Amino acid sequence: MKNYRKELWFNVPTRRAFINITPEVNICLQESGIKNGLLLCNAMHITASVFINDEESGLHHDYEVWLEKLAPHEPISRYQHNRTGEDNGDAHLKRQVMGREVVVAVTDGKLDFGTWEQIFYGEFDGRRKKRVLVKIIGE
Ligand code: ZN
Repeated sequence: MKNYRKELWFNVPTRRAFINITPEVNICLQESGIKNGLLLCNAMHITASVFINDEESGLHHDYEVWLEKLAPHEPISRYQHNRTGEDNGDAHLKRQVMGREVVVAVTDGKLDFGTWEQIFYGEFDGRRKKRVLVKIIGE
C-alpha cells in the first residue's frame, strides 16, 4: 500500500472566506500516484473547516449570512471564550458547524465525487498562515 502526505498552506487576507481547493487536492492525488484508495483532507486549525459542497457564489453568500446569524462575530463580549483575550469565539463555533474534514474515495486515479461535489476550505479567523492536511492511502 502506498501512502502520501502533504500540507497545503493558506493566508487568507480577510477574516472569513470560502476557497475551492479541489485543484490543489487533485494535484496531490496526481503526485501520490495512487489509483484506488481513500483521501483525507482536514483543516489543521480549530477556526477553519474543510467541507464538500457546490461551487456556487450564491451558496457561499448564504453560508456567510447563516453562520453570522448562528454565531455572530460581534459583540465579541458575548463569548466566554473571548475572556481569554481572543476575539475568535465565533470562529470556533463556525468551524464546528462546517466540520473539520472530508474523506473522498479514489477510484481509477480520480476523486470519486458526486455530480456537483467540490472541496472547500472555510476560513473563519484568517489574516494569518494556516494549514490543511492531505493524506492519501491506497495503491
Ligand atoms: Zn480562540
